[in-house]
Amino acid sequence: MAVERERTVANTHATSNGPANGPGAQGISDAGFAERVRDAIERQELSLVFQPQADVVTNRLTGFEALSRWRLSDGTMLPPDVFVPMAEQGEAIHLLGEWTLRTACAAAAGWVRAGYPDIPVSVNLSARQLDDPGLVLKVLGILTETGLPAASLKLELTETSMFSQTAEAREALLQLRGAGIRLVLDDFGTGWSSLATLRRVPVEALKIDKQFVQAMVEDRDAAAIVQAVVALAHALDLGVVAEGVETPEQRLYLQAYRCDVLQGYWLSRPLCADGVSEFLAERSVIGSLRPLGPMGGAMGSGGSAAGPQTSG
Ligand code: C2E
Ligand code: CA
Ligand code: CA
Repeated sequence: MAVERERTVANTHATSNGPANGPGAQGISDAGFAERVRDAIERQELSLVFQPQADVVTNRLTGFEALSRWRLSDGTMLPPDVFVPMAEQGEAIHLLGEWTLRTACAAAAGWVRAGYPDIPVSVNLSARQLDDPGLVLKVLGILTETGLPAASLKLELTETSMFSQTAEAREALLQLRGAGIRLVLDDFGTGWSSLATLRRVPVEALKIDKQFVQAMVEDRDAAAIVQAVVALAHALDLGVVAEGVETPEQRLYLQAYRCDVLQGYWLSRPLCADGVSEFLAERSVIGSLRPLGPMGGAMGSGGSAAGPQTSG
């Protein structure tokens, strides 16, 4: 199925951009795709949407996750779960990753300037980006350039990227963490985390994959997994975020399980920049956005406790 989808996208490229870039309708070469991403950035075909996250108990806003969108000139939307894996095949991921970081940090710096100093932005980081020896300097440069405090940036990494790390990649993560950037383990439960390695990665929170959250109300096993992940996270002094929360029942389960933070359609779909401004204006009083839950403090450096007692 994934192959079918990629072919559709390759076809889309071939028709919207001419077949000149790559081996025609069968796909686009690495270099061709990187060129295509560069073009897309120049032509402003790429954009970010931001999905809010909130404290499960108080519903207070705790941040936004930035998600990439790609609209072709003919209006066709390419889904990120198609173009991100394509970019990951080659150099394009570095262009896309840097654009995403810069754009997300600039947006979050705008929230700070608008009077919301405590709303971190979470950016997805591909495992491949950790192969870039210049990554740490790039990220720090973007923070300086945009004026965003390091603590207002969270990087979401998947289990696979955390655990199949080279020594260099691990050092990069430690440097990012050392600079005050916050790290979150994304899609937890779907990859190959070893519990032993979990103790060694410098993350402040686990994000429970939506497949468990969405099955939890109907399926006892999924419910047991969610409950166990929350307990595991808290036992390790980590925060825990549930993604893909769509219903009030799911929120109630998460509250009962003492999950800290939720994200999903129940709270809000991902929002464009104007949508974020409206969301902030509607839901909050400037200056009172400091989250109450354990995700709110500068966690992960051995500071505040992240046990369920602080969230409920
Ligand atoms: P993810 O990091 O797990 O992001 C969550 C996905 O779940 C997003 O899909 C989001 O729109 C969707 N979602 C949020 N709430 C709900 C809900 O209540 N129900 C359901 N069914 N879905 C929900 P999206 O935006 O299509 O992104 C898909 C994946 O693409 C992301 O999964 C992430 O792995 C990747 N991605 C997106 N943007 C970027 C990016 O800028 N860089 C990298 N490296 N990956 C990205
Ligand atoms: Ca994510
Ligand atoms: Ca996920």
